[in-house]
Amino acid sequence: MFFIAGMSPKLYQIGNVMGECPACGAQDKLFLVKRSQTLSLFFIPVVKYGGEYLVTCGQCASLMELNPQMGKRVERDLNTRISPYDMHIIKNKNLPRCPQCGRQVYQDQNYCPGCGHKLER
Ligand SMILES: [Zn+2]
Ligand SMILES: [Zn+2]
Repeated sequence: MFFIAGMSPKLYQIGNVMGECPACGAQDKLFLVKRSQTLSLFFIPVVKYGGEYLVTCGQCASLMELNPQMGKRVERDLNTRISPYDMHIIKNKNLPRCPQCGRQVYQDQNYCPGCGHKLER
């Protein structure tokens, strides 16, 4: 008698959500993904572990973890706004900041998208 058991992480794309990015301050550029682990036995999923909610920002490409309570609310109703306080940043490319307004800017941008300040390279 032997068992074939395995854990496999699954990603569910939930969709675009509204809220402010805690890394760059972009509005409504967030995308919510749920990651859950499934334990399978003989290739049949038996146990599903509670999900983890991850948010990516379409503007600065930072990865944030969303608190699970908020994640469940947003999963039920995509019109729920996420506050920056519900997320913590896991990955951030450390984009340079505009010296005038402090907003993160892309490497290839010559002018700050926030205040129009000319950026020195
Ligand atoms: Zn961002
Ligand atoms: Zn600026």
